[in-house]
Amino acid sequence: MITPGETIGILGGGQLGRMLAKAAAQLGYRVHVYAPEPDSVAAEVCAQFTCAHWDDTAAMADFAADCAVVTYEFENVPVPPLRALGQVPLYPNARALEVAQDRVNEKEFVEQFGGHCAPWMAVDTAEDLNDALIRIGSPGILKTRREGYDGKGQWRIAYDHEAEGIALGGQAMVYEGLVSFAAEFSVILARGQDGTIVFWDSAENVHEGGILARSTVPAGPLVSAQVDQARDLARQIADALDYVGVAAFEFFAGEDGPIFNEMAPRVHNSGHWTIEGAVTSQFENHIRAICGLPLGDTRLAATRVEMRNVIGDAAEDWAAILSDPANHLHLYGKAAARPGRKMGHVTRLTF
Ligand code: AMP
Repeated sequence: MITPGETIGILGGGQLGRMLAKAAAQLGYRVHVYAPEPDSVAAEVCAQFTCAHWDDTAAMADFAADCAVVTYEFENVPVPPLRALGQVPLYPNARALEVAQDRVNEKEFVEQFGGHCAPWMAVDTAEDLNDALIRIGSPGILKTRREGYDGKGQWRIAYDHEAEGIALGGQAMVYEGLVSFAAEFSVILARGQDGTIVFWDSAENVHEGGILARSTVPAGPLVSAQVDQARDLARQIADALDYVGVAAFEFFAGEDGPIFNEMAPRVHNSGHWTIEGAVTSQFENHIRAICGLPLGDTRLAATRVEMRNVIGDAAEDWAAILSDPANHLHLYGKAAARPGRKMGHVTRLTF
């Protein structure tokens, strides 16, 4: 067990790291953030900040020397430099990163457990894309295998001929058939070091332009009918990875059951509602899990919870939002608003 007072290392300096650091502080831990960006918003709420590139193994080793345990808030942390962590435990482990960093690895892994994905094909060349269009057809989405997020690194192909203009540029891609779904949802679990798994209620998620806009709990009847099957798959994946911490699994509610979209080996935007909307938040349970502490109660703390993201530079009246006692405002302290950038979120509870 990592005792309160010891130091938790967090790789990545975004808002997820910031919210993890706050949960760690509540339990008496000291936090050391490691991130390449000098303006990391997690760095503002931690005891120590190392600003260094991922492949700076000397900086990584110094960071590790200060930490009792290391975790990450960003799934694209490159795996090879993590060897510099030496004997310091990394939770979730590097295997979880390797699976989730590559869309093809992830789909192959999930299919081993009977998970259903949208029809897909790996695409490395223009001929592969042509083959994929013959086999799977349009409409579909071409996605980079690595490093895409919030709809970045994705090209929608409505008709086959649109594929002609896409320059693959030697990047490894995957082509997926477009799923016609009635709803999207996520399964979020926390798995402890002893293998105990707890789930939060599944949120029904609405994306706009590939970016999460809103998560609502409880989900509607269509999603609710598919949650058990999706949880079974998530549990098998977490057990197979000997996963420790919070993981999120995103699904489409298809006509014939849940269709796996992707997993995140970390706390997730569609779980932000748990800060006020559940007895124990995803952030606190992640900290508890990686420190070897018992997991907290995940039950709903309200009858209905709605989380909406504050995205880009839309001017909002914060005072007006806060004047409604049902609202809880979280702003991430990002200096520059860019289109599509997540600046904060508002959680609304109904009792
Ligand atoms: P992703 O980055 O893969 O999670 O995609 C972001 C969002 O784009 C998803 O949550 C969906 O709303 C949409 N999307 C991605 N892949 C597909 C697909 N194969 N079929 C339909 N919609 C998709």
